[in-house]
Amino acid sequence: MIVIMKKTATEEQISNTIGWIESAGYRAHPSRGVERTIIGAVGDRRIPEHLTIIEQLSGVERAIPILKPYKLAGREFSEGNTMVRVGDIEIGGPSFIVMAGPCSIESEEQIMESAYIVKKAGANILRGGAYKPRTSPYSFQGMEEEGLKLLRKAGDSVGMPVITELVNPVDVDIVEEYTDIIQIGARNVQNFALLKKVGRSRKPVFLKRGMMTTIEELLMSAEYILSAGNRGVILCERGIRTFETATRNTLDISAVPVLKELTHLPVIVDPSHAAGTWKYVLPLSRGALAVGADGVMVELHPRPEQAVSDGMQSLKPERFYAFMDEIRRLEELIRSASGVPK
Ligand code: PEP
Ligand code: MN
Repeated sequence: MIVIMKKTATEEQISNTIGWIESAGYRAHPSRGVERTIIGAVGDRRIPEHLTIIEQLSGVERAIPILKPYKLAGREFSEGNTMVRVGDIEIGGPSFIVMAGPCSIESEEQIMESAYIVKKAGANILRGGAYKPRTSPYSFQGMEEEGLKLLRKAGDSVGMPVITELVNPVDVDIVEEYTDIIQIGARNVQNFALLKKVGRSRKPVFLKRGMMTTIEELLMSAEYILSAGNRGVILCERGIRTFETATRNTLDISAVPVLKELTHLPVIVDPSHAAGTWKYVLPLSRGALAVGADGVMVELHPRPEQAVSDGMQSLKPERFYAFMDEIRRLEELIRSASGVPK
């Protein structure tokens, strides 16, 4: 259940309420909003009388049962939208965030060049994979720790936060040391051991929808991270597998407004892995922006024809500059055309 405290509730009333929730066998997850505190009381039992008892505690405005299987990820748990802050960047805030960079970190030269392009184009966050979950064991598996160091160096040299994928729970400490945001890829969306591990991390987690995951399953995976104590969860729609073969995956654009209705967490679209080809990255990004996503993650490469992974879907520098130019203009246009806040 979700316990909504009165605006006037004192610290003492809040801590008494948390005490009662815990003594009744629930885990209490307080969320302190600008106006009031909301406490998630999460447990595997549901005792209807508890609602009535809680509502009688002083400082409590009301208690509402949450019927959905995800609790902390649900809209009810938050006063407004969650903003995940990384340095001075706000993911889920008013600006449309662009994360960009190569699929894989390949060399110092390649990631440094990429960082320069991403920065110059006016994007916000540098991406690059150091541990690569490849379909074939014979494909390039990533530069691992060496790659993480290069990514950090590249991000620092242009003053930009970085994001990289964590594949194996044993690497969590090392990845956490070098990155600003931990990416959990589509293939690991239901790797519950990994989700619990990053749930205990201090770094925000970028959680990609799996190619066969429903929206509810994605939110349950987010719940794993949130319930372990990490509130910095960012969701990503990156295309799902359907009967359609014209694109690598089918971008489920409806997932954006559906997620926006169900959850307070930021939602990012990855048009590169959805499309599988650079040609559709701009049109799909236009769609993502128009439909209310908080940003996009796109792949770019200084020389896509030489990329060791995902070259086909990577934008080359001139295309990325044109892409950013259009996205920023479109962002302004949509902001001025829409009377409805995001
Ligand atoms: C990636 O971001 O490079 C990646 C492997 O993406 P996904 O997990 O969406 O396939
Ligand atoms: Mn990729």
